[in-house]
Amino acid sequence: MTFRTGLLLDPECLLHDPGPQHPESPARLSVLIELVQSKAVRALPLLRVDHRNASEAEVLRVHTPALLERLKTSVGHTIQLDQDTIASPRSFDCAMRAAGAAVAAVDAVMAGTVDNAMVLVRPPGHHAEADRPMGFCLLNNVAIAAQHARVVHGLARVAIVDFDVHHGNGTQAIFERDPNVLYISTHQWPLFPGTGAADSLGSGPGLGRTINIPLGPEHGDAEYDAIYGGLIARILDQFRPDLILLSAGYDISEHDPLGGMSVTYAGFARIAGHMVNAAELLCKKRLVAVLEGGYSAVGLTTGVQATLEALTGTVRVDDPRGPLVRLPLGDAARHLHLYREYFAI
Ligand SMILES: [Zn+2]
Repeated sequence: MTFRTGLLLDPECLLHDPGPQHPESPARLSVLIELVQSKAVRALPLLRVDHRNASEAEVLRVHTPALLERLKTSVGHTIQLDQDTIASPRSFDCAMRAAGAAVAAVDAVMAGTVDNAMVLVRPPGHHAEADRPMGFCLLNNVAIAAQHARVVHGLARVAIVDFDVHHGNGTQAIFERDPNVLYISTHQWPLFPGTGAADSLGSGPGLGRTINIPLGPEHGDAEYDAIYGGLIARILDQFRPDLILLSAGYDISEHDPLGGMSVTYAGFARIAGHMVNAAELLCKKRLVAVLEGGYSAVGLTTGVQATLEALTGTVRVDDPRGPLVRLPLGDAARHLHLYREYFAI
């Protein structure tokens, strides 16, 4: 079976320029523009989905007016927002384009014009908190998309699954008190930003709706396959989301200069394939993947191609739910008792 997969790729996002030595460079998007023009990707059944800038109202469902005003002051200037986050003269527009693309992908999936979608934009989003840009991120694209899905489309529960090598502190902070947004993150530990301990499980009414799965370096395809197909698939089964958003960070690639993981094409295809299966089983195939990190050209192109092949159903994974204890869960196995407080896994 194949899926109708929307592709949102915005060349305008090339104009965000944090400087010549910065890893989050326009070249990250250039290589993906070349990838989607390649013979292999042109052979996939992808549908182009149009988008627009996010509106201020859409951004303000997640971010504070003060953050929005601060970003606007960067228009036409270069501003250092934090130690490693820079806004260049066109960055505000790029950030609004990126968030708008994530919103449009949700609209397309909800309208049924596509089953799932991939959003290839920058700057990335998952480190951006409600009131501060951080870690190369200006606006939290997946958080804005999640709130749009709930407010405009009336969805009761949204799951955000984040496979970037870094913990999505921004996404967690925005939703950690919310029982209706499940945030699940696998990330290298210890590593920037230093948040995402296994016993950080949300708070107040959101307790148990944040699942952090910190992993030592050098986890690879087998462990990611087991964690996404076993542990995460089972948690999603019980949460029963109406939509799955995937924070797709390709800095877990074996080639990435910032991360220490060793995921290859096969691992990326398995991660995305498991999420496609979960979306098919739980939420009418609704799945939107949004680009986060990934700082090696070959890691990005390999990973995005694998994701697109999984989203379209060109490659599939079989039933993922083998016996959990026999799967190679790596460091995740040490934390199962914490997750079992909230999910019968
Ligand atoms: Zn990252």
